[in-house]
Amino acid sequence: MLDALSRKFDQILKKLRGHGVLTEQNIADALKEVRLALLEADVNFKIVKEFIERVRVKAVGQEVLQSLAPGQQVIKIVWDELRDLMGREQSGVKLASEPPTIIMMVGLQGAGKTTTCGKLARQFKHQGKRVLLVAGFADIYAAGDVTGLHQHTPAAWYEGRLAAENALLGNRRAADFSLFPTATFTIPAIAQVGLTEASARQQGFTVGVSRTPFEDSSAAAVRNETEGFVKVVFDQTSGRILGVHILGPGAEDLIHVAAVAMRGSLTREALTGMHYVFPTLAGSVFDAMWD
Ligand SMILES: Cc1cc2nc3c(=O)[nH]c(=O)nc-3n(C[C@H](O)[C@H](O)[C@H](O)COP(=O)(O)OP(=O)(O)OC[C@H]3O[C@@H](n4cnc5c(N)ncnc54)[C@H](O)[C@@H]3O)c2cc1C
Repeated sequence: MLDALSRKFDQILKKLRGHGVLTEQNIADALKEVRLALLEADVNFKIVKEFIERVRVKAVGQEVLQSLAPGQQVIKIVWDELRDLMGREQSGVKLASEPPTIIMMVGLQGAGKTTTCGKLARQFKHQGKRVLLVAGFADIYAAGDVTGLHQHTPAAWYEGRLAAENALLGNRRAADFSLFPTATFTIPAIAQVGLTEASARQQGFTVGVSRTPFEDSSAAAVRNETEGFVKVVFDQTSGRILGVHILGPGAEDLIHVAAVAMRGSLTREALTGMHYVFPTLAGSVFDAMWD
């Protein structure tokens, strides 16, 4: 990414260098390109805005525009500001007194984390350190959207805690998303946990399906929200609940009833025998357990 940024800067600054005399418009055009290059390199927009303003104020100063080589002076201002932005001082990587030293790489997919790890390893090797690059470990210390797994807030919380525990306690636990309820906040909402009917078949289960429409629910009728249903995917051999899918009022809350039941390995039979409050939307989750 830095290579691409530096190539773009070279092109922009070459154009400035070519001008014998600079106008405010020349500078504004060049700074527009600098702004774009920084934004494309994922620099925070507020930082870019402040950076461009600082360069603009210095660059349109009378001494610059009236000097013999204004292009060169503007280039110097841009480089000086860039150096200030990146920090004037170089600070090395702090190594642990007892090896191994754990370095956490944070960045979106494609930001260059793996390449940077390679470069760091090479630098350490030149310094006489023993280096080991193991690709699989990168996932263990990653958390949130950057993992490309479940892009939901609770996944980020869970992965963050797991990554911290792995890093600090030396664990090697991978994330377990076998029971991860999700919801889409449409009207009515859609929520699901566990396997879909198709993926359960693919995995070789003897799949059974049962469902209840919200039309049969008094609680839904009272709310005048009877669109949708609760669908249960189960293993016919063991009665194990493999997945629950809800489209309808309160789906995003109701799904937790199913998730808790599945976490406790409750069978359909266990749930059909349970008492529940009437009239409630949750009643539909229990009704859907009946074949
Ligand atoms: C419109 C929208 C609606 C959503 N709705 C839901 C929902 O209803 N339910 C749900 O579960 N999930 C929802 N999500 C997904 C959820 O927001 C993400 O999955 C979750 O926030 C991911 O957490 P994260 O920690 O990986 O990233 P983020 O929450 O994005 O946190 C990353 C942080 O890093 C900061 N940052 C970025 N670059 C740098 C840098 N170079 N230096 C320093 N800091 C930096 C960012 O400013 C940000 O604060 C929604 C997402 C969007 C976009």
